[in-house]
Amino acid sequence: MMNDVKATVVPVTQPYLPPLVEFMPYLEQIWANRWVTNGGPFHSQLEAALCEYLGVRHVSLVSNGTIALILALEALEITGEVITTPFSFVATTHAIHWNGIKPVFADIDPVSMNLDPSRIEAAITPETRAIVPVHVYGNPCDVEQIQKIADKHGLRVIYDAAHAFGVRRHNQSILNFGDMSVLSFHGTKIFHTFEGGAIVFSDAEMKRRVDRLKNFGIEDEVTVTACGLNGKMNEVQAAFGLLQLQHMPRAQEARARIDQRYREALGNIRGLQLLEVDAINSRNYAYFPIRVTPEFPVSRDTLYDELRARQIAVRRYFYPLISQFADYRALPSAKRENLPVANAVAEQVLCLPIFSMLEEQVQARIIDIVLAMAGVATV
Ligand SMILES: *Cc1c(COP(=O)(O)O)cnc(C)c1O
Repeated sequence: MMNDVKATVVPVTQPYLPPLVEFMPYLEQIWANRWVTNGGPFHSQLEAALCEYLGVRHVSLVSNGTIALILALEALEITGEVITTPFSFVATTHAIHWNGIKPVFADIDPVSMNLDPSRIEAAITPETRAIVPVHVYGNPCDVEQIQKIADKHGLRVIYDAAHAFGVRRHNQSILNFGDMSVLSFHGTKIFHTFEGGAIVFSDAEMKRRVDRLKNFGIEDEVTVTACGLNGKMNEVQAAFGLLQLQHMPRAQEARARIDQRYREALGNIRGLQLLEVDAINSRNYAYFPIRVTPEFPVSRDTLYDELRARQIAVRRYFYPLISQFADYRALPSAKRENLPVANAVAEQVLCLPIFSMLEEQVQARIIDIVLAMAGVATV
């Protein structure tokens, strides 16, 4: 017997799992095909289905989002320095570092919490080759401003779109901006394949290059043309992705309702700031960040401790900043004075639980705790 690990803790997110019986026919197909990886039929089907669902030209599936970032930088032959945000998951900067590139941190915008375009130009040096912004919480960066700067200075733009699955701007996929966008299909993301990821491009030649790089740089049986690695997605993962894609509309509706209830309950609380998304952008309800400002009766960390003590596993995404981790803190751009907004925001953010299976009564309990701490209700 396997252990029953049914947790009493409410997680900040939970992987979406369709009914197991629906997955069995996919597994039977894989068993019948005896094709388990290396661009099998489900792999091809999922690439095509994602192009359609997301509204993008080309998708290359890979083993995870970190490998996707590494391959994107490699495919574009980026060297030297790359300007990026410290307010992200650590993989964004790690991928840059793994490619032997020097990360240069620039500060974020106080409202969107994304890389501030007005801070990018000051960080450009003769060594700068690219910008790696992140659509944090699925809220799009100022892609037009960033492209203007990139064009002016001859820089590439690779978006870390790990949070931005399905997001549109002016009814166009946000993944169509920049040279490439990178997705993560990790179990914590709104669309997942347990582990997995993808790179999105408009350029077919770039897809061919990435497809080679994710398979050791192999061109054909006797030719290896690049120092690639193993970044392939297997058939079980791809099949799972195909099945899950069918469930996305309903799962997203559930998330939208949860988001709506949080907004109604917490939208007018003194000292709490919710993420405001510009109407030109669609939302994917991937996260529900709140900012606990000095006007709130208690600090962010006190609120965090209170919720945790009551089995609500809220997360401080993103604290600490990437620039504070051991590998990066000695960089000149990691200095606190260079990143005043990011440092302030990292002290204020708290992500509340949001996932399609979150029950209404559980959410009501979470809201009650926050309201009690705000001094407007009792638990
Ligand atoms: C999840 C995530 C990644 C890494 O993706 P993995 O699939 O876990 O490797 C990179 N960047 C951001 C912003 C993420 O949230």
